[in-house]
Amino acid sequence: MRTDLLQRLAARTRERTQADLLRRARTIDHAQGPWLEIGDRRLLGFCSNDYLGLAGNPQVIAAFKRVADDEGVGSTAAHLVCGHRREHAMLEEALADWTGRERALLFSTGYMANLGVMQGLLGRGDLCVQDKLNHASLLDGAALAGATLRRYPHGDATAAARQLAGMPGGAALLATDGVFGMDGDRAPLRDLVALCRREGVTLMVDDAHGLGVLGPAGAGSIAEAGLGAREVPVLMATLGKALGTHGAFVAGSATLIEGLTQFARTYVYTTAMPTALAAATLAAVHLARTEHWRRERLAALIARFRAGARQLGLPLAASDTPIQPLLLGDAARALAAARALEAQGLLVSAIRPPTVPAGQARLRITLSAAHEDEHVDRLLDALATLARRETGAPA
Ligand SMILES: *Cc1c(COP(=O)(O)O)cnc(C)c1O
Repeated sequence: MRTDLLQRLAARTRERTQADLLRRARTIDHAQGPWLEIGDRRLLGFCSNDYLGLAGNPQVIAAFKRVADDEGVGSTAAHLVCGHRREHAMLEEALADWTGRERALLFSTGYMANLGVMQGLLGRGDLCVQDKLNHASLLDGAALAGATLRRYPHGDATAAARQLAGMPGGAALLATDGVFGMDGDRAPLRDLVALCRREGVTLMVDDAHGLGVLGPAGAGSIAEAGLGAREVPVLMATLGKALGTHGAFVAGSATLIEGLTQFARTYVYTTAMPTALAAATLAAVHLARTEHWRRERLAALIARFRAGARQLGLPLAASDTPIQPLLLGDAARALAAARALEAQGLLVSAIRPPTVPAGQARLRITLSAAHEDEHVDRLLDALATLARRETGAPA
């Protein structure tokens, strides 16, 4: 008798439920800025990646509508068939210019972009060295490409060097998040650049949480570190976070982009993103580059939150980015905290294993330029109430 696959899946789901690790999508009935409506409740959200508050920006919406009205919604084909429109080309040029690279290539999502880069660059027998806390799509990409994956302890360039030394000789890619999505800290880019240069290794940075937020004119964590295309030849970033739209891109030399156009299957064999989305994203890029007040506003909110949380003695992480996790440890405790905050009108996500390592469940608080000072104060008040309840102190 063969194993029944659906029964096996059901058993695994039951195990997750029993371990307080079941995941379930919440249906948001309506979203506006940081406000989310679920049924008849209006909640203040600290869980989106809309760091610059561009998702609901009128100019971004207008660009989307103009092109949708003009030529419809779907791009109707893959880029290499007839789906590649003027708006896609203009967006690729703008992204290359912003990040200081020769060219850029659009992908439908960040997940697909990372799979595509790995498919293009790596093959069986190659080595891919990655930070343990890298995004799942980078780890999956290396596996899909058939490369040998070696992971080093978070942020530890010396350990990365040891992984490389353990497999000398062959072709190797070192891939890291620029800003880590669940922790908010940065990769040691300058150390990794020095290591890659010494060892002849290609460096790839996934800057999903850095683009728009860090560096001069929001050009990202590589530019912030004073590095460029020569030091980091492969840059990937997403459009669904600080830019407030959807999709992703890879930027680098003309050689890289020409090669990915041939060999990144997640680029070749998929429908191009909607043209209107490319137009909306182009508007978002312009705003992200020029409206410095959004980054200044964000920095002020981050400082306000951290000062308040420190005063309350909360377990703050070493992060000065909009990702401000509060480490609670136990999955059940993180869930209970998220529920208690929701009862006070706030939506914050509890992040549990396997997204984070066992014993490191947390509240992942994210801030946005769309938040106001009083929103942060409300969050701090709610966290104070929660802390008092947990320690059993009188309210
Ligand atoms: C969100 C994210 C991705 C995936 O991007 P999507 O466009 O959401 O598929 C990849 N890498 C990192 C670091 C991310 O944070």
